[in-house]
Amino acid sequence: MARLNIVGFAPRTSAQVHSEMRQQKPRPNQEKTFQSIIKKMLAIKKAIFFIAILCLVFFPLKAQDYWHSEIISVEKSQGIMKKLLQMDLDLLMERNNRIYIIVGFDDFLKLQEENIPYTLETFDFYPYKQMEVSLLGGINGKYHSYKELERDLLALQDSYPQIAKVRDIGDSLEGRNIYALKISDNVHLEEGEAQVIFIGCHHAREWISVEVPFLLGKYLVENYEINSQVKDLVDQSEIWIIPLLNPDGLEYSIHFYRYWRKNRRDNGDGAFGVDLNRNYGYNWGFDDEGSSPNPFSNVYRGTSPFSEPETQATRDLFAGKNFQAMITYHSFSQVILYPWGYTEQPTEEDQLLDQIAADMSTFIQSVNGNVYDYYQSGELFYLTNGDTTDWTFGTYGIPSYTIELPPEDEPQGGFFNAEENIQPIFNENLPAMLYLIDWSIQNFSSNTDFPLRTERRPKDRVKLKKKIRVGRDRKGG
Ligand SMILES: [Zn+2]
Repeated sequence: MARLNIVGFAPRTSAQVHSEMRQQKPRPNQEKTFQSIIKKMLAIKKAIFFIAILCLVFFPLKAQDYWHSEIISVEKSQGIMKKLLQMDLDLLMERNNRIYIIVGFDDFLKLQEENIPYTLETFDFYPYKQMEVSLLGGINGKYHSYKELERDLLALQDSYPQIAKVRDIGDSLEGRNIYALKISDNVHLEEGEAQVIFIGCHHAREWISVEVPFLLGKYLVENYEINSQVKDLVDQSEIWIIPLLNPDGLEYSIHFYRYWRKNRRDNGDGAFGVDLNRNYGYNWGFDDEGSSPNPFSNVYRGTSPFSEPETQATRDLFAGKNFQAMITYHSFSQVILYPWGYTEQPTEEDQLLDQIAADMSTFIQSVNGNVYDYYQSGELFYLTNGDTTDWTFGTYGIPSYTIELPPEDEPQGGFFNAEENIQPIFNENLPAMLYLIDWSIQNFSSNTDFPLRTERRPKDRVKLKKKIRVGRDRKGG
């Protein structure tokens, strides 16, 4: 039930729903009127859409400024799939033999040129509409903008100066600070303790991925004096949190284009953005399936490994540290992924990586009952290269995870998590975060093999799931 509550409605019992339906059930002629009103509304909506497109075609200079992304679907056939893949579109998902796609202005023109018939589907994705209503605190609601995050991080430092320290680890392309929050006892000293790192928001549109690592920092400092488990962890480790690696992209997503994914690199010829999660330096550009050499692509890898100041910030922070483990947060899909991403072959540490993922999944499930599947990303999810986890594992050999936060799919909200779900999503992830901190401490001090706590789940169970995920996942959350 919890997973259904993505648009901010409280779950209702079936009795409540039936009772409401009885009360609201329209008389036959009323029903007819409702249907015709809805039909008219849809017709008007479609008409507005097409008038807008006509305007855009006739006033191309202004077009991109006014374009809002739409979701369309096209029938899945071999011929069309081939064309779509060549067009480098932002594929969302596959449902009932139709491929759903987020289209920007240029994409729309490409589809027109190729004569591919499509259906406008945006109005079907009701959470998208609900979010606009539920955003109470300004355009980005309870989600952090760059400035709001800066304010809140500095407030944590001011309130807890002994255990929280904000560090500027580099500037984004547009000159915003990339902040890391260090949490430890004697936070101003280097005490040679186990270090562990949590990173958020490589991808601009994945707003929830800022909140989860930020809330970890807030939780740790606020509970340090009152929770002995938290105190133990903080005393024995250095916890590093980068809630927002891609501030330029996030601001762009808030103010201009909600579905923006990359940073804001001007690639020339009107192409913008490098996919920061394809720009890391381990097997960067291994092939064109796991990333793209096309500057217009949503998974464009940049001109060279670490060409972007944002990934350089991560690289440089790692160079001076001795991290034991890393989680990078993304959305959506509700899964835990580990290296390799660039190949279907497992790493030599496959069993350990799988075991820690299984444990984290168990901890997460224990909170709200939500199941996060887990697997090697290249084997069962989709191929990537130049991503964060391949680089941290490939370079430093540490357990490295991508956690794709809820929801599971687009119809449940996709990149739009209701504000009411920020806290529950953090809450369910918290025990897995604490567990990884603890693992880092144990592994660092005793240097013994990690005890196997839970049964490995058979891989064929998750294989079934992959079939549902084909469309969107190729482009990655
Ligand atoms: Zn992502």
